[in-house]
Amino acid sequence: MNKKGHVLNAILLALGLGVILTVDPRTFEPNRVETYVHLAQKIGQLSLPVILGALFPDVDTAFGKHRKTLHNLPVLIAFLAFPLVFDNLHFVWIGVATHYVLDMVGSKRGIALFYPLSPQEYDLPTGVATSSKHADAVTLLVTAAELGVLAGVHYYLVSLDVSLANAAASFVDATAALTVVL
Ligand SMILES: [Zn+2]
Repeated sequence: MNKKGHVLNAILLALGLGVILTVDPRTFEPNRVETYVHLAQKIGQLSLPVILGALFPDVDTAFGKHRKTLHNLPVLIAFLAFPLVFDNLHFVWIGVATHYVLDMVGSKRGIALFYPLSPQEYDLPTGVATSSKHADAVTLLVTAAELGVLAGVHYYLVSLDVSLANAAASFVDATAALTVVL
């Protein structure tokens, strides 16, 4: 998938995920202003990290081997683990993961999921050429499917949310720690 597809996918994913993380169907209160303030904050919190994550894998067009060096599961695991260890870069993994999905499902060439262990590129037969006129439609379909999966995970398995208060507190902690070090 080309850059336009990845950015479109990331923006829509951030918007949709903002709704999923904010609007709990069991407690949804459409008449409260706070609902919409919270929604706007959540979309703001998600947008940049998800978009940056979605752009990151294609850095390997300049450094390393394209669709291999930064298109593999070890890189995704690093982005998943980073917030757990450093309480930083939350949600970037969602951008990286969606980039992989779009490359595998939406374009003809696959990605080397197990690189550097194996250079084999994996693909699904659903892909269209990145120049195809159907590329945008495929991007929208993939995004919708991803939002369905993320909603299922968030509602039934594990919360994907990171509260703004916790994120701010960890930033203050990190700043304080840095001040001590310096
Ligand atoms: Zn890519």
